[in-house]
Amino acid sequence: MPACQEKSPTKITKITAAGRGGAHTYCLFPRPKVYSAQVQSSLPRTAVGVNEYFYALSLREHGAVRCVAAGSSIHLPLAPLTAVLPVGITRVALPPKPLRRGRAGGRVGASRWEVDVHTATPPLLIHKVKYHQQYEAPAAVVATVRRLWQPTFDAMATPLSAICAQYATLEDDVMTPDLIPRGSIIYVNPAYAPEDAKNGAAGIEIHLSKLVETDVRARIALLPNLSHTGWYRRLVGLCHEIHFISGTLVFSNPYTDLEPPRKGYLWQCRSYVLCVWRPSAPPAQPTLNWLDLDAAPTERMHLRLCAKCGRVRFLPRWVAKPESAKLRQGAFVCARLLDAKYGSCEVPEYVLSAVE
Ligand SMILES: [Zn+2]
Repeated sequence: MPACQEKSPTKITKITAAGRGGAHTYCLFPRPKVYSAQVQSSLPRTAVGVNEYFYALSLREHGAVRCVAAGSSIHLPLAPLTAVLPVGITRVALPPKPLRRGRAGGRVGASRWEVDVHTATPPLLIHKVKYHQQYEAPAAVVATVRRLWQPTFDAMATPLSAICAQYATLEDDVMTPDLIPRGSIIYVNPAYAPEDAKNGAAGIEIHLSKLVETDVRARIALLPNLSHTGWYRRLVGLCHEIHFISGTLVFSNPYTDLEPPRKGYLWQCRSYVLCVWRPSAPPAQPTLNWLDLDAAPTERMHLRLCAKCGRVRFLPRWVAKPESAKLRQGAFVCARLLDAKYGSCEVPEYVLSAVE
């Protein structure tokens, strides 16, 4: 059974969670020919970038993360020429032949990463990912929210999408009581669907109700401007400020996009608002504002290898200067990651596991 099925040239539409040889699988993309055997430190914010993370991880964890090419028994990466990692990463033998011909950055049908987290020592951590719920706030929104409100806790995120050093993943579960540290300024771009692999926007009400009615702190939410709905009247009606975002937003999904998405589709041209709830009592009416978003540079994924432990880390997407001296490849160590979950050499890397 193929691990991935393709519907359009730019989207993966179905990914099976289980595969032969491992409990978790992930689509494998051929690395662009211009890449060397070295790990690429800066990548497009797409599935190709996520793929490079798995590649880097496979260099460290040969038994736990490996790739299986469709229709062949080739297992990559090949053994490093030295037993020393991560130094050996630069000396890994290149594959003897291309996996299969394909578009640069494109995908290959049934080729996949197979992951067995328990083969690694210590075992790799697992983050469940609902591929169809992983649309990320655009970079301009992230920049604007961070400048205006300095949020400290992203309530529904992954290590890839979080806009704060502290964040809650699917495993943490936003609905958990006392999840959010005291004094936090919460940001949320809520999952729209109420359950795994479902469509619709009923999940917004569930998650927002918990944050607005239970967690009494300053909150910022990025929401579709669905003023005709009951939840909008009930929950947005309680906020202190509604900021109508000028222009259109395009949400990307680095787990499924093969290229940066373009504007133009109706669902991408929906009106969006940023709502702010203050800790004080709700006002009689929210204040209404127009909001021009900050200009934001094209976001990229930045991979780093820890100079101390050799682990592979993604820099948080909100880091303003990934090229700074402290974060450059070679000088980077885990403690500089500014990610509350992974900013330590003691914490193993994570892998992604698709929820069906
Ligand atoms: Zn480290």
